[in-house]
Amino acid sequence: MEKEPILSMTALELAQAIRKKKVTSVEAVRAIFRNIDEHEYERHAYVAFWKEEALSEALACDALVDKYNAGNTEISELPPLLGVPVAIKDNLLLSGKTASCGSKMLENYIPPYTASCVEKLEKAGAVIIGRTNMDEFGMGVSTEHSYFGATSHPMDIDRVPGGSSGGSAAAVASLEAFAALGTDTGGSIRQPAAFCGLFGLRPTYGSVSRHGLVAFASSMDTAGPIARSSADAAALFNIVMGPDPKDQTSVSSPRVDISAMESYSVEGKRIGIPKQLLSDEGDVRLSEEVAESLQKAKVLLQEKGAIIEEVDMPILSYAVPVYYILSSAEASSNLSRYDGIRYGYRAEDAADLHDLYTKTRSEGFGLEVKRRILLGNYVLSSEHFEDIYRKAEKARDLVRKAFEEVFSKFDLLLSPTSPVTAPKKGEIADDPLIAYASDLCTVPASLAGIPAVSIPFGEDRNGLPIGLQLMGPRFGEQEILGAARFFEKNGEGGGD
Ligand code: GLN
Repeated sequence: MEKEPILSMTALELAQAIRKKKVTSVEAVRAIFRNIDEHEYERHAYVAFWKEEALSEALACDALVDKYNAGNTEISELPPLLGVPVAIKDNLLLSGKTASCGSKMLENYIPPYTASCVEKLEKAGAVIIGRTNMDEFGMGVSTEHSYFGATSHPMDIDRVPGGSSGGSAAAVASLEAFAALGTDTGGSIRQPAAFCGLFGLRPTYGSVSRHGLVAFASSMDTAGPIARSSADAAALFNIVMGPDPKDQTSVSSPRVDISAMESYSVEGKRIGIPKQLLSDEGDVRLSEEVAESLQKAKVLLQEKGAIIEEVDMPILSYAVPVYYILSSAEASSNLSRYDGIRYGYRAEDAADLHDLYTKTRSEGFGLEVKRRILLGNYVLSSEHFEDIYRKAEKARDLVRKAFEEVFSKFDLLLSPTSPVTAPKKGEIADDPLIAYASDLCTVPASLAGIPAVSIPFGEDRNGLPIGLQLMGPRFGEQEILGAARFFEKNGEGGGD
């Protein structure tokens, strides 16, 4: 692929170049759309994009830069992402634009308000160019469960980009956006970032408002960045985070000091590797190449003075079932609102109200969503509430406690992000048990509400990216992003 130099910049590099008038936002948007026009038909990273609006917004951004430069005002006063083309996942609302969550149910749903995190992105000057494809309602690991068709891996159209934020990751890696927002309930930012060779941050639960993020499992849903560099991930996090009166679970959390990330040192850091995340049994085993990458990371850290230890966290062996019980229970309740009455798809020719509900939900939801609703209703039913749902809640508590204890002794935890690299289309998503098992490394942080970032570190023999995950205590974004920057500088391929 012949790429235009402007397209390979990071979001922060582009923002800086636009402020300094080395390039214009219009040039950036045009370059993005030239690439989209040429390749998007085979990638399908987007469900929709807004070229004309993006161009007129870009013009306005460039005019603002001119005005500032003419007035000799400090360019640092300009919004941090002024003029930078950014994409958002299809479950984040933007007033007046369809948000379909990859579902027929919401195919024509036009929200009357904007998600708080998207509003913040707009205030930061980003030009929102489109909404990206996703597994229906965020349920999946491959972006094959989208009503609008699958997204392809940026390097190989026969492979998946990961999921559920596969469209966001594919857009950023295919140079069809400079950065994107995804959402992560059980790994949907981190795993596609890993498959596509990007940085994906799942922030501390509550640090980014969920207002306007279409609910899947409310106690775990978190919006966050998918980016080309650790600094971009940090910058986007700083922009979208912060308490929000419209989300009572949102909290204030410390900003990440991006320049401090630069001087982060691993010397003397205590870094744990949870044994239970190095799966050598069951449906999905850690691939040799991912294990090798982890080993290289370990050696690198040790060389630079970190103290690495394997840690035993037995409760994490239950993380996958606990996650699927709790997330499906919450999903079955959250998705009960799609009944054909209030909004979204409505089936035709229903005989009565009950028939309308049945037909609407049978026709409007895809297979995976139905599976989760059934599972959720099962575990919440009076016969199983105590012995399944309650037990899972107790186990979740133990997961939280296990992390708290570990973080009293360790600064960071390191693991693979996914046991495998990007599989071929049809290989994982068709078997739900394999798909669920592949979430082993990402769901623990989701259950505990702690921050975790996936970083690119090495490649497999097909040249596909390998991702490693760094987890930190609640509000530990500075620590994990500092470490992410360390790996970026010292990583496979020499870094920058
Ligand atoms: N793969 C997980 C699931 O299908 C995670 C999805 C997510 O984080 N949205 O539930």
